[in-house]
Amino acid sequence: MSTFELLKHAMPTPEPLREKILADSGFGKHFTDHMAHVRYTEELGWHGAQVKPYGPLVLDPAAAVLHYAQEIFEGLKAYRHADGSVWTFRPELNARRFNRSAARLALPELPEELFLESLKSLVSADSAWVPTPKDDNDEVSLYLRPFAFASEKFLGVRPSVEVDYYVIASPAQAYFSGTVGPVSIWVSQKVNRAAPGGTGFAKCGGNYAASLAAQKEAAEHGCAQVLFTDAAENRYLEELGGMNLFLVYEDGRLVTPALGDSILDGVTRRSLIELAEQLGYKPEERLVSLQEWKDGVASGEITEAFACGTAAVVTPIGTLKAPDFELQLGDEAGEVTMQLRSRLLDLQYGRVEDERGWLYRLA
Ligand SMILES: *Cc1c(COP(=O)(O)O)cnc(C)c1O
Repeated sequence: MSTFELLKHAMPTPEPLREKILADSGFGKHFTDHMAHVRYTEELGWHGAQVKPYGPLVLDPAAAVLHYAQEIFEGLKAYRHADGSVWTFRPELNARRFNRSAARLALPELPEELFLESLKSLVSADSAWVPTPKDDNDEVSLYLRPFAFASEKFLGVRPSVEVDYYVIASPAQAYFSGTVGPVSIWVSQKVNRAAPGGTGFAKCGGNYAASLAAQKEAAEHGCAQVLFTDAAENRYLEELGGMNLFLVYEDGRLVTPALGDSILDGVTRRSLIELAEQLGYKPEERLVSLQEWKDGVASGEITEAFACGTAAVVTPIGTLKAPDFELQLGDEAGEVTMQLRSRLLDLQYGRVEDERGWLYRLA
């Protein structure tokens, strides 16, 4: 028995319209018929778990989140396998990270069980919205977005004593449209997204708000994403606005910046580190400077670079641009990058055996 009470939508999206949306869903534009909701108050704790019709929220204009950005979120995907079953990937890592984010933003922690159950209850209600891949190159999924925010009506500055947790779901095609071509990355030298002691390791809306000016600058220079370096010296590589970074060395080393409190502990990053060893690569988590990257490309020692995250999976980096230099890394996706990418997708879509028990059944 689920703790989530199901309040069915009286007029769900008619099937022909749903099929039309699924055939060309884009990313993050369309949403399913339901959403999961759990409310927190100081007196009752988490309570009132429901899956109910998707729709606008009513918020008091003084709701704390609108003023002080006390908000966190997660992102994961539901994949339909060939036998019709629906699975997600290592959701317990997202549940734990959600609580690390909650602790940093002074929000109440959500029991891991409740997090997992919210995903399961929503996806069961909206399972018809999980797209079926046409073939092995069709990266369609149902993107799941859990989030929690301070909903108390109060303008004083302190942690909110009322919080709402929701999960919404959005059918998704590949994050970057077209084939898996390398993207251009802008090195932000004026704007930092995170600093020591800050919120960089937490998945919170505020980090994204802080990265948008750099994102805008990147777009003006024809770049799809931003690479952030450390806030103290702007010397060491950290990550992109929403993806972690890997450099591939000719000798089989796979280097990614070590996690500190300014880098997000990505599930994709962590999974690639574990898969890389099995595929014969040597993963290294350590400090990496921008200079090491430049020198490595010049000497031929660094052969590929890629970004990774749930939304965009593994994305090859083709060009690195900054106000004072431009580094060409190749106009085709690298071999190692594509091998890791396929390996991960094969696992997620159930095309290879799940030896590590990373998949979690939702429907
Ligand atoms: C979500 C996110 C990532 C990627 O994490 P995954 O768990 O792999 O999806 C990387 N960096 C930032 C800043 C993020 O918000």
